[in-house]
Amino acid sequence: MHHSSASNRDAKRKSIEMLDRVGIPQPDQRINDFPHQFSGGMRQRAMIAMGLINDPSLLIADEPTTALDVTVQAQILDLLRELQREFNSAVIIITHDLGVIAEMADDVLVMYAGRCVEYGTAKEILTHPEMPYTWGLLSSVPDVTASTDARLIPIPGTPPSLLNPPTGCAFHPRCAHREKVPGDLCFTELPELSAAKGNAAHVKRCHLPDPDAIYRADVLPEIAPDLVKDNR
Ligand code: SF4
Repeated sequence: MHHSSASNRDAKRKSIEMLDRVGIPQPDQRINDFPHQFSGGMRQRAMIAMGLINDPSLLIADEPTTALDVTVQAQILDLLRELQREFNSAVIIITHDLGVIAEMADDVLVMYAGRCVEYGTAKEILTHPEMPYTWGLLSSVPDVTASTDARLIPIPGTPPSLLNPPTGCAFHPRCAHREKVPGDLCFTELPELSAAKGNAAHVKRCHLPDPDAIYRADVLPEIAPDLVKDNR
């Protein structure tokens, strides 16, 4: 009602329609329920209904599938995709889940310590990533086809404090590839965003002189094949 001239009655009618549209059963009764009376998936559907009710040109979905089991996760992603087409809204999905990105995104912006560290089309980022933090994210995705004694490869350390960020590249305390950069650039100089090899639409923030060679030799074998199937 704050964003439109809808009356009380119109707002309620539209809310019931939206709950129905996002798949809440008996929406005319459920509209009176409290959040704790909904399951996690239904709460997420209600949030999507709230986000879309005033026809926004941009919907920001912050971790829309966190804490949902995989079946409900897939339903929520299907719903987001369907509604995106129907409402013609752009959608920004904020997520740590590269599986979600592989399924949903056209473009990907990878952030670390409050800065963009890599940006490009989803295909480019998933098949030719050029930044060690992106490599770490991709390597730490579980691979269902791996043997049962295969261990996950986590990114070592913890995210830095933004009150006292590291000097140079903010990722350097956790980066396994910093020794491949000549001199002490990683420790002293913040890399600028620069075009990745042969593709001006793909940018990365890293001092490595030939990231593609390191990626193919050292990183690609660690990544779940489903994520990067076009590149093997
Ligand atoms: S700039 Fe250096 S520390 Fe930062 S990601 Fe690249 S190699 Fe690693």
